[in-house]
Amino acid sequence: MAMGGRTVTVAGRAAGADPAAAEEVGRDRRPTLAVWKFASCDGCQLTLLNCEAELLALADRVRVAYFPEATRAAVAGPYDLSLVEGSITTAEDAERIQQVRAQSRILVTLGACATAGGIQALRNLADVAELAAAAYPRPDRLAFLARSTPIASHVTVDHELHGCPIDRGQLLEVVAAVLQGRAPRIPSGSVCTECKRRGTVCVAVADGLPCLGPVTRAGCGAICPAHHRGCYGCFGPQDTPNGRSLASLLGAAGMAPTDVVRAFRTFNAGAEPFRTATGPALPTSVPDAAGGRP
Ligand code: SF4
Ligand code: SF4
Repeated sequence: MAMGGRTVTVAGRAAGADPAAAEEVGRDRRPTLAVWKFASCDGCQLTLLNCEAELLALADRVRVAYFPEATRAAVAGPYDLSLVEGSITTAEDAERIQQVRAQSRILVTLGACATAGGIQALRNLADVAELAAAAYPRPDRLAFLARSTPIASHVTVDHELHGCPIDRGQLLEVVAAVLQGRAPRIPSGSVCTECKRRGTVCVAVADGLPCLGPVTRAGCGAICPAHHRGCYGCFGPQDTPNGRSLASLLGAAGMAPTDVVRAFRTFNAGAEPFRTATGPALPTSVPDAAGGRP
């Protein structure tokens, strides 16, 4: 594929694309699906593989053209649907995501890593050189960006699925919506609404448990409160969160200030509403060598 006057392989990863498979795809009328990995644990890709029964129906409707976690067969782009897991943490990845975008009609990001920088974005709040020196004997051999950034900081994203990992039902919904040419039905309200819908007694009000449900995006079905524990925010901030107010309430209920900070700075520490809930806004646009935009 030609981009900016140069030829680009399938995002620099499917360079060994099989010409016979490409010919077969030419005859195949099914939309093509590609699944990409950046800095991540693979858990969101596993959610797709865990669909089991639905995978067979999915395989009837889409052609899996590139998915290294599942198959070595690789077909060159362009692709109708790209699912992207992981955050951008190296200059190479910052270039590769541009190539993925250029070859994807619809691009959907999967999980806290891809939508908020993931747990690796905790380094955005510290001196990354100091961290590297503490963890590695030869930090001078490492090549990394100062910040872990979400995919949307680098390219246009069509849809985002939140969570660590994502919810299987939401993944199937977004794939079905793309195939049917409609907008996916993805909730933007809070986990509290899901507790009410399933009849779960509020663990914060009834039992005084710390819970991030009021500021966290719905989509998981309020699993944690249903098992009598507070939500720890893995789906990231809902559309209109009041993090500072919840942080004050947690403090007033007796939670130590450091614990309140930690509650907001886990999987979605890089998401602005969580990052700033417990303190002054930190810079969001430290210029990366690869130019990740704020
Ligand atoms: S969002 Fe969570 S489950 Fe998904 S890749 Fe990142 S760390 Fe793994
Ligand atoms: S209740 Fe909160 S922590 Fe638990 S799965 Fe849902 S969003 Fe994640």
